[in-house]
Amino acid sequence: MNFSELGLNPLILKAVETSGYTEPTAVQEQAVPAALAGKDLLVSAQTGSGKTAAFMMPSLCRLVEPSTVKGSGPRILVLTPTRELAMQVEKAAATYGREMRKLRTVSLVGGAPYGPQLKQLSQPVDVVVATPGRLMDHMERGKIDFDRLEVLILDEADRMLDMGFVDDIKAIVAKTPATRQTLLFSATLDGVVGKLARELTRDALRIEVARKEDPEAQIEQKLHFFDDPSHKMRLLDALARDTNLNQAVVFTATKAGAEELSEELRDRGFLAEALHGDMPQHKRTRTLDRVRTGRTQFLIATDVAARGIDVAGISHVINFDPPRQAEDYVHRIGRTGRAGRSGIAVTLVGFKERHLVRNIERYTGQSIAVEIIPGLEPTSKPRPEGPRTSKPWGDKPGYKGKSSFGGGGWKGGERAPSSAKPGGYKGNSENKPRPAAATAQPAHKPKRAERFW
Ligand code: AMP
Repeated sequence: MNFSELGLNPLILKAVETSGYTEPTAVQEQAVPAALAGKDLLVSAQTGSGKTAAFMMPSLCRLVEPSTVKGSGPRILVLTPTRELAMQVEKAAATYGREMRKLRTVSLVGGAPYGPQLKQLSQPVDVVVATPGRLMDHMERGKIDFDRLEVLILDEADRMLDMGFVDDIKAIVAKTPATRQTLLFSATLDGVVGKLARELTRDALRIEVARKEDPEAQIEQKLHFFDDPSHKMRLLDALARDTNLNQAVVFTATKAGAEELSEELRDRGFLAEALHGDMPQHKRTRTLDRVRTGRTQFLIATDVAARGIDVAGISHVINFDPPRQAEDYVHRIGRTGRAGRSGIAVTLVGFKERHLVRNIERYTGQSIAVEIIPGLEPTSKPRPEGPRTSKPWGDKPGYKGKSSFGGGGWKGGERAPSSAKPGGYKGNSENKPRPAAATAQPAHKPKRAERFW
């Protein structure tokens, strides 16, 4: 199918074609004609599937005709869980609407000053992209009305619910006209999301995009076990020097961890910057701009801050700390392999954290290959159970006969050093890794090993 068969207005079609897209993605093929026909939609589509264009292109088509209702409020409202995603959606609106005359888009996100937002709201606006909390603030101050609203879009609805926005969403929806069209996009339509979806939509068409559209399909997933914080840092150092790595998002569990790790990487000569929720919006925007333009190679981020980041140059995602929630793993690795490109997702795991990997594998239905970097093999024994003489890692050549793993039962491998603390690579001279040159493994060829469970 090509774009001209979707029924889009020629102005939107022209903008899409100049974006360089040759054909619609699966979600666009299914969602666009139905949205143009005015249907409510419940769409389960992963990030990277082209979902933003799937809701933005048909919604913008409405704006080609003037509103029949008087007022200055938005005709399209998009709710997103995070500021970064909101900004990307606003950018998409501007891109697909660039051939339209005087399209006015506004992003209302928390963490940004009120002044410019209020100024923008003092004039008529076509598209508002907002995080629920900040939008509620503007609504409570009487700065925005929805008299003209035609389309309400909930993007990454599951995530908004995870983040506790359910009451805000309901309060916002209650202020919108009952005649609106509602398009809800979510990674899943099960459980509480499904319940909310049914409450907010009327006779909605349900669209589930086949799994082959999942970003994971193009993403090679790998696992590296580490013994202690020093070993973990040396692994990261080696991975960071891989010549195949273009840009990477490195995930940490905490905001402080992101700051510390970015400092550590800078000390080692890498172009690294942190991105987390404690940073003021202008700093976050600047950091993301530097990532987009390639001036920053490593973005050290927390889950929420990195959500929705869409930078084509990101070749690797490195989970320096494994995610606690399996869903977060999917969102994290979706930062690479964007728009049909391939990507690599590496997770560093302590032996005590194996259960997290098992949860992820159960959730995704995919197993993650264990790899080792020559010279950086973990010395801990992989698993406690089983007879001492068994070969828990089977007969795969990678591990068989390796002196660091072979012989003896598992002993103490899960014990982290008592000096270990989260982010223990810093401020601990014992754990401080050797100078970069000593650990550098450019373009290493990691050996594959079999899993431990
Ligand atoms: P999304 O799933 O909305 O986060 O989009 C993921 C990426 O796919 C974005 O970088 C879009 O610019 C890109 N994209 C959207 N639609 C298409 C298409 N039909 N062909 C190629 N790339 C696309």
